[in-house]
Amino acid sequence: MIHHKKRKKPAKVFYIILIGIIFCLGFKLAWHTGSATVKLIPASSAKHGETYKTLPDSPNNNQTYRIAIDPGHGGKDPGATGVSGAYEKEFNLSLAGRVFDILEEDPLFEPFMTRIDDQFVELEDRAAIANDWNADVMISIHGNTYTDPTTSGTETLYRHEDSIPLAQTLQKQVVKGLGLRDRGIKEEQLKVLATPKMPAVLVEVGYLTNADDEHLLLSNEGLERAAQSIVDGLRDYFMGEQGHSAGQQTDGSPHEISSSGTNQNQNQSMEKKVYFNGSAKDGKQVALTFDDGPDAIVTPQILDILRENDIKATFFILGDRAASHPETVRRIVEEGHAIGNHSWSHPNFKEITMEEAMKQINDTQDKLNDIIGYRPSLFRPPYGALDEEKVEAIQSLDLAIVNWSVDTMDWSGLPAQGIMQRIHTQLKPGGIILQHTANGKNHLANTIEALKQLIPDLKDQGYSFVTVPELLHLPDTQ
Ligand SMILES: [Zn+2]
Repeated sequence: MIHHKKRKKPAKVFYIILIGIIFCLGFKLAWHTGSATVKLIPASSAKHGETYKTLPDSPNNNQTYRIAIDPGHGGKDPGATGVSGAYEKEFNLSLAGRVFDILEEDPLFEPFMTRIDDQFVELEDRAAIANDWNADVMISIHGNTYTDPTTSGTETLYRHEDSIPLAQTLQKQVVKGLGLRDRGIKEEQLKVLATPKMPAVLVEVGYLTNADDEHLLLSNEGLERAAQSIVDGLRDYFMGEQGHSAGQQTDGSPHEISSSGTNQNQNQSMEKKVYFNGSAKDGKQVALTFDDGPDAIVTPQILDILRENDIKATFFILGDRAASHPETVRRIVEEGHAIGNHSWSHPNFKEITMEEAMKQINDTQDKLNDIIGYRPSLFRPPYGALDEEKVEAIQSLDLAIVNWSVDTMDWSGLPAQGIMQRIHTQLKPGGIILQHTANGKNHLANTIEALKQLIPDLKDQGYSFVTVPELLHLPDTQ
């Protein structure tokens, strides 16, 4: 036995070292094996290194969400210097490590760090690591700095529009968790966020140059709360908010916009409502919705599947795409599906003027009227983003604002399994499922695949498929 063990052990060690070397070469990272933070190395990192080496484009087929955690700065680049003289790079690393630890305990997530100790990593390399690993999201963790020591609070930065929902959910949870001033989400042309292929944001947790912020952030409790709130934000992002439903909250995140009158006057002002789902009283109904089309590739495939299954769905259409693919718009309507207005060119309505917003909507209504002979009664804001003023203006155009209760994240490249998992977790009777017909990764092959699975699956669960106007008892046309 002893001999046997002694013979095998060196081979095993050699194998581990070999995998380690492959991993290091693949990721162009110098690993400091003796470091105190070595416990932060994902237990399965060698496996990923190997996967990377042999199957660089392999998707993540596990039912886990891969989170690339990027502790900002490091090595020769200390980042900000706090009031107490502490370096931002150290704060970033210790917070990132805690986020890693919490995520690693959660079967839903698979975390990975772009640096695990005090080393310098180029900004492009951080994004490359996340890309090579096929991360589902990347979160860069930072402490903020400013010349004015009274400046304080939390903000989340993004660069590409598809990162807005992630920025919103993280910002919301971190503000809630730490209780610092809410400085909101902002678009910034940051290099680290330029090349990730997945939603990527940079969280400026608080100001290290503000004595109160710093005191909280460097405390054990502050670090725990910050780490937990980042994880809560990720859970919200991937799983949806537990128990959220129409019109109950008004904090402006995509799932929860409601007009000012909704809560107080639910009975008298149905038309003043922002819809997220239908009523469970109508039985086990579900509405499939497909956004951002039509196009010439994905939309026809979706229409084929719906026709084969004799299911009616709702398509939220962009005016500029309708103009390029009028035949597909006509096919949608001829085959009995409902359509809604999804703006002309998909801007974030919180970031455009009222005049631009109205033009986006009216031009699309006119274009749809040209193609199909009527103006739809539904409007869905891109990203679910609207401010109160625009909610009211749109409602005064006689359009019902329709969001969703189940966000499949299909555009993100999430595999069909992950889409199905999100539907299973979030769908309740009366639910509205959001998927896309354009603007996604790999021509939305995962959307097509998930659609083939979800139709029989939801039928087995006793769901019937209806259009949004049917679900919400609204007219098809204005
Ligand atoms: Zn959209």
